[in-house]
Amino acid sequence: MNVPFVDLKSQYRSIKEEMDNAILNILENTAFIKGKAVEDFEKDFATAIGMKHCIGVGNGTDALIIALKTLNIGPGDEVIVPANSFIATSEAVTAAGARVVFVDNHPETYNIDVTKIEQSVTKRTKAIIAVHLYGQPADMDAVLAIAEKHNLYVIEDSAQGHLAQYYSENGGWKMTGIFGHIATFSFYPGKNLGAYGDAGAIVTNDDQVAKKARMYANHGRISKYDHEFEGVNSRMDGIQGAVLGVKLNYLPEWTEKRRAAAAYYSAHLQGIGDIVVPFFDEQKVKPVWHLYVIRTNKRDALLEHLINKGIAVGIHYPIALPNLKAYQYLGHKPADFPVASAYQNQILSLPIFPEITREQQDYVIENIKTFFS
Ligand SMILES: *Cc1c(COP(=O)(O)O)cnc(C)c1O
Repeated sequence: MNVPFVDLKSQYRSIKEEMDNAILNILENTAFIKGKAVEDFEKDFATAIGMKHCIGVGNGTDALIIALKTLNIGPGDEVIVPANSFIATSEAVTAAGARVVFVDNHPETYNIDVTKIEQSVTKRTKAIIAVHLYGQPADMDAVLAIAEKHNLYVIEDSAQGHLAQYYSENGGWKMTGIFGHIATFSFYPGKNLGAYGDAGAIVTNDDQVAKKARMYANHGRISKYDHEFEGVNSRMDGIQGAVLGVKLNYLPEWTEKRRAAAAYYSAHLQGIGDIVVPFFDEQKVKPVWHLYVIRTNKRDALLEHLINKGIAVGIHYPIALPNLKAYQYLGHKPADFPVASAYQNQILSLPIFPEITREQQDYVIENIKTFFS
């Protein structure tokens, strides 16, 4: 048996007719950049997560850069980011002209360790980027409390967190994206809500922030040649808007399927060898399982075993951000980030996607069992 890491083909087949029509409609109308499909998607996505504004942009990395620029963050400023994330999170800080400050991750949730944020706050700190890694919301109450105390902006990088929920002490269950001043999403094809190419979005409830972000993403203009400031070109394509519009209707159902698959893995993997299954606090978070990440000291051998059995696995991420060559200039040692540095050799992402079958999951579980026996 072969188990892919994600199966975008079977997803496409399940919605082929509807999807083909939506894309053909864009071709007929030649609405290639922005246009009605993008506007409709922006409205529908904002509604789906309970926000006022959504601005479609070119990709999730641009969304972060535009968010930082919109908040006037740049040279001389510092931005706190988790040590365990995809490089886009920290790359955006540098692209905006600010300085990256890494904070280690929590030993159980893999998200930013909120107990270690304050020691990294300086006079130059302007913002914290909270990443909802693997689809599990970061501890937003704690992040917001620190931000309020030190007068910092909070940006949520929800590239992996579409429809994830967090229980806030002063608002109950809410979707990620609503907690910070501005939030960003990626619709890279492999994300929980994936386009058929690159796409991303910025969401916010602040009218002024929304207006500025929309202008920034479109050459600093509102109307065609009326440029109030210099921005960039980062707009969502009409085809991507149409694709995302179709898929958004299925996202709640697909999310439930991911949750069922994650629960099935955890029930059956618990107790095998030294495996640590993902931890989450049911009272506080409802993850959306962009990734299902286990931990074991035999990671490399297990990875090889599973690959040999036709099971596609991944490592997210094999080198913690501060340990990358790209950040050598910061002069960190792995010991500065003990959790992220240890985990980079222990974490393993198993196949998870809405269409994964019980047979595929059983095959993964059986092969993990034989490895440890
Ligand atoms: C995918 C991802 C991004 C970047 O999104 P792109 O659309 O690929 O530019 C940013 N942050 C995180 C955590 C991601 O997983």
